[in-house]
Amino acid sequence: MADRVKFIAGNWKMFKDIEGAKEFADAFLKLNRPAGIKVAVCAPFLQLTTLVDAFAGTGIGVGAQNVHFEDSGAFTGEIAVPMLKEVGVDYCIIGHSERREYFGETDETVNKKLKKLFNTSDIIPILCVGEKLDEREAGVQQDIVSAQLEKDLAGLDADTVKELVIAYEPIWAIGTGKTATPDQAQEMCAFIRGKLASMYDQATADAVIIQYGGSVKPGNAKDIIGKPDIDGALVGGASLDPEGFTSLIAAAAE
Ligand code: PEP
Repeated sequence: MADRVKFIAGNWKMFKDIEGAKEFADAFLKLNRPAGIKVAVCAPFLQLTTLVDAFAGTGIGVGAQNVHFEDSGAFTGEIAVPMLKEVGVDYCIIGHSERREYFGETDETVNKKLKKLFNTSDIIPILCVGEKLDEREAGVQQDIVSAQLEKDLAGLDADTVKELVIAYEPIWAIGTGKTATPDQAQEMCAFIRGKLASMYDQATADAVIIQYGGSVKPGNAKDIIGKPDIDGALVGGASLDPEGFTSLIAAAAE
């Protein structure tokens, strides 16, 4: 098995203003975090500069939650990859289920965004995949995730995909308090790794960081992230509070 570093990323969604981001960063930087685990915070666009400045030199990464697939143009309300580069972000969430559900994100636009990020920047995409509740109840969750991976990664080669972070986020577990059991999460993350091995090769599959996301909290992080194919978490609600997020990171590092 490749030597993958554990990676915990917070997703603030549309919570926290600039003042809230400053307060979070001040408090978070005063707390002790375990070494040897990567941490990032994905914030709304307007809060990115605040976090990039606050976390400079600390090793804590900063991520955006979306980006457009063109470099510039008449796309009112959008943000381009060069703009994220100018600000200095490290990561960008792509294809979050809330964007797929409420903002018309499709596997085709996800694929274009991944290509744009990889071809024109060193910003690492965190690609979200996952099934809906009715799909899990029908037992087709692996088919859904398999199809997402095929479409989202179309045209990307093995060396590129090695750099990718994938977050398996069952939609029924996001913000609902319903967590996939550690075994359910492991089963799908292992499936994703196997799928990558069949699309590329085993070395590529072993290099990819695969996170679980969906109601991860300090109390369940250790059991979930302790599983062999789960390399970390994408954390929504529990990333908003600096003390709670720090406890979650500590639990994940155990
Ligand atoms: C998310 O937003 O990606 C997420 C997993 O949210 P939560 O942790 O709140 O379920």
